[in-house]
Amino acid sequence: MRAFALKTLYFINRAVIHPVSALSSVRWRAAQSRFSCSSSPAEEKPRASMLRHLTSKIKATGPIPVAEYMREVLTNPVTGYYVRNNMLGPEGDFITSPEISQIFGELVGVWCVSEWMGAGRPSQLQLVEFGPGKGSLASDVLRVFSQLRAALGGASVSLHLVEVSPALSRIQAECLTGNQNQEADSEDEPVYRRGETSGGLPVCWYRRIDDVPAGFSIYLAHEFFDALPIHKFQRTEKGWREVMVDIDPEKPDQLRFVLLPSPTLASSTLIQADEKRVHVEVCPEGGVIVQQLANRIAEDGGAALIADYGHDGTKTDTFRGFKGHQLHDVLASPGSADLTADVDFGYLRRMAGGGVACLGPVSQSDFLKNMGIDARLQVLLRNCSDPSSRQQLVQGFDLLTDPRKMGERFRFFSLLHHSRLAKPKTPQGLKMEKKSPAPLPVAGFTELSFS
Ligand code: SAH
Repeated sequence: MRAFALKTLYFINRAVIHPVSALSSVRWRAAQSRFSCSSSPAEEKPRASMLRHLTSKIKATGPIPVAEYMREVLTNPVTGYYVRNNMLGPEGDFITSPEISQIFGELVGVWCVSEWMGAGRPSQLQLVEFGPGKGSLASDVLRVFSQLRAALGGASVSLHLVEVSPALSRIQAECLTGNQNQEADSEDEPVYRRGETSGGLPVCWYRRIDDVPAGFSIYLAHEFFDALPIHKFQRTEKGWREVMVDIDPEKPDQLRFVLLPSPTLASSTLIQADEKRVHVEVCPEGGVIVQQLANRIAEDGGAALIADYGHDGTKTDTFRGFKGHQLHDVLASPGSADLTADVDFGYLRRMAGGGVACLGPVSQSDFLKNMGIDARLQVLLRNCSDPSSRQQLVQGFDLLTDPRKMGERFRFFSLLHHSRLAKPKTPQGLKMEKKSPAPLPVAGFTELSFS
């Protein structure tokens, strides 16, 4: 069983290659954390309505926390960046690993099956993805499920997508179900869209995790936590102070950062007593979601795989914007660019608490190598004779794993049910001790050996 992840790769023989023709023009910019391309989309007009909305809010109530600014800009139900845009891919503002190479989603799919097996093959398997973007990751994972149908046995599989953007949910629905999906009649429905994949698996869309049904689940979040709102704090001689967004008094159509002279509830409660840094970013919404994941996993079983760029409580100012694959001033033309901040995995681990086991973070390069990306690339290359497709496969592999590109900055972190790592107890009172089997290693976080 040790070599499960690697062995299964050889059953997944389909070499479908995503249309990543723009990869040849893709460029990695060391200063940036979002993956960047050289294409430059047409200049957009500043998002005047979002700016108007923010300035009237600030005029009415005073400067707003960075978290409120980020939440409004990204997910305001009318003018929010994610709600309006299709920002992913060479034509958009950034590109992500599942869009770069099919291998990424396939290896995550193998991870899901491996964790389902490690949990004792429960009869129900809910695959839950947060922020599924274009639906490519879920689609690649489901392809692996279908190829490993025999291993999955009769498990009843369903797909659950937590997505705030109606525009992106339509793109996901098209990718995953073709036209086999329908929007809910009323906006109040917790399941706002439902459909069925061509293989007959049910798919449901939700706005928040609370609406996803309980049950054994594998949770995936790729480049999701970095999009959640952060508070920013600065250490001063008088103690921690919160960074706020205000209107620039000299240019009333522009915003600027200010430091509040007195503490806020957030600055008094969100910073650790032994904090050493001078500037800190905290994402309480991410903390709450991780707590919910931990509670669900502790109660119903399952595992979560969180992949994002991030650090272990060491970085300071990471808040940045992306537009047309270039860095963008976070306060300029709000709503026209993506906003993001590195994920603090140390904070997520603290918020997960003791009810679950946490693994990682490990680098993307280590995770994918442990999952057998080298072997998978060789299989795909053997089945592919078209020179440009072969070149794309190799380029995608290089981008995902090279430590100078995405290999080192992107990290994988997992929450697991405690029973997953616990050594089985030796029955008491037995004279002849029966050697109990060690738990299955957690794929991706352990180097698999063939010995
Ligand atoms: N996981 C995809 C997309 C990453 S972009 C990929 O790696 O390619 C971030 C995704 O999270 C988008 O689908 C966006 O609409 C969604 N999102 C952002 N904030 C959200 C929130 N608060 N709740 C649910 N989805 C959110």
